[in-house]
Amino acid sequence: MIDTMTQYEPIIGLEIHAELMTNSKMFCSCQVVDSVQAEPNTAVCPVCLGMPGMLPVINRRAVEYAMRVALALNCAVQQHNIFARKNYFYPDLPKAYQLTQYELPIGLRGWLDIELEDGSTKRIRVRRVHMEEDTGKLTHLDRTAVAAEEGTLVDYNRSGVPLLEIVSEPDIHSGEEARAYAMKIRQILRYLGVNAGDLEKGVFRVEPNISIRPIGTTAFGKRTELKNLNSFKSLADGTAFEIARQTEVLNSGGQVVQETRGWHDTKRITFSQRSKEEAEDYRYFPEPDLPPLAISDAWIAAVKAALPELPDAKVQRYQADYGLSAYDARVLTEEKAVAEWFETAVSLSPSSPDPKTIANWIINNLFSLMNEHKQSIDAIRVTPAGLAELLELVERRAINNNTAKEVLAAMFTSGQSAPAIVQAQGLAQVSDEGAITAVIERTLDAHPDNVAAYLGGKERLIGFFVGQVMREMRGKADPAVVNRLLAAALAARK
Ligand code: ADP
Ligand code: ZN
Ligand code: MG
Repeated sequence: MIDTMTQYEPIIGLEIHAELMTNSKMFCSCQVVDSVQAEPNTAVCPVCLGMPGMLPVINRRAVEYAMRVALALNCAVQQHNIFARKNYFYPDLPKAYQLTQYELPIGLRGWLDIELEDGSTKRIRVRRVHMEEDTGKLTHLDRTAVAAEEGTLVDYNRSGVPLLEIVSEPDIHSGEEARAYAMKIRQILRYLGVNAGDLEKGVFRVEPNISIRPIGTTAFGKRTELKNLNSFKSLADGTAFEIARQTEVLNSGGQVVQETRGWHDTKRITFSQRSKEEAEDYRYFPEPDLPPLAISDAWIAAVKAALPELPDAKVQRYQADYGLSAYDARVLTEEKAVAEWFETAVSLSPSSPDPKTIANWIINNLFSLMNEHKQSIDAIRVTPAGLAELLELVERRAINNNTAKEVLAAMFTSGQSAPAIVQAQGLAQVSDEGAITAVIERTLDAHPDNVAAYLGGKERLIGFFVGQVMREMRGKADPAVVNRLLAAALAARK
């Protein structure tokens, strides 16, 4: 009996782990390598293998990257930083402790505005941003397969890679909001140049903590933490699944157990992995081999001054300065590389074509070519200058809009310039009134019935005549000239 059941409100907080794209690891000089491509255990040393007596040294660039993120997420940057040992045993953690910031993280009390599907925005508070080191990577060999080897492989290339953890307050209330928040964090990290954002490779990992409580109450319910989410869709679906599962548990008189649950990507369900440990279980204590990390005012100011323009600021500016719609501004700023491409094209066309026209051409035409050819903006052969040059031809009426679309497609595949393609394929627009008039007269002669009907009041037939003339001229006639001369020629036949 649905109507007598309690209504619940989902409460969700996200933990995001992002590997920092530094050259070397967090506490040693080993190179950070691609976890998929690199030969296992080739980027390791006594420090990141956890040999006794080895001394860690803090990676300055990693601290700078962490600071960028803290500032971009509106956090207060803590100037007194301590690394702590988080003790636990696991085969991917040779030291049996992870170095992480516990009591004194680099960033505290920030926030981030996310856009929801209905166009509204919502502010999510960021509790903390802290630095730590990644663990090694375990690969469990398929036990069901008939294989010569069976068991678990460990690769320590990832051991000690700088890792940033970004923890939100539990301000999120649905799988959709969780997705929007995680995607926005990823977008900002990519803008800042500190993380590649690749969920499949595990360099960007999202773990939602989920609980529900009866609507109208304030105490939090017991939460579960979800792992193994390798896409934003899985994040939204897994969170929704967990909300539904907990609702069912409570409605059938049961209790939610605080635990870590995995997401099964093919069955699309969550399953229990292990009971949740408490902070006390880790016996955190300050790392004795590292001095406190002091961050000066000057360093913070320098990092702040060097921050790039972030997506929200770009969206505002595109609307204010270029007259773009909020939607178009969002689309163009989704990726920094696209935004920069657009801005370069605008800067190359000081007055005309205007930014709005350029934006439309990118969104309506360039993106579909990129989709069709599965190419990202960095890979395409059309340059911002090339698009500006094409649109100038349209502006000067050297070609019409439809021809320009064909030319852009040709530029995309051949890498040639617009003028070269127009010339080679004889696509220049015909504005020569003599040539157009000749075609118009021939067309009218060929369709006396339609001419009579038009003159009798069926004015919609003008479209028919324009179509005939354009076809005859292989689409190259200047539509404005055709319309003007056609009206005059028809009037002359009254
Ligand atoms: P831990 O590191 O043990 O997982 P934290 O206190 O750092 O725990 O919290 C992790 C995340 O869980 C945070 O994003 C926080 O907002 C969220 N969270 C805490 N309590 C709840 C709860 N009852 N329901 C949902 N989310 C919660
Ligand atoms: Zn090392
Ligand atoms: Mg947690």
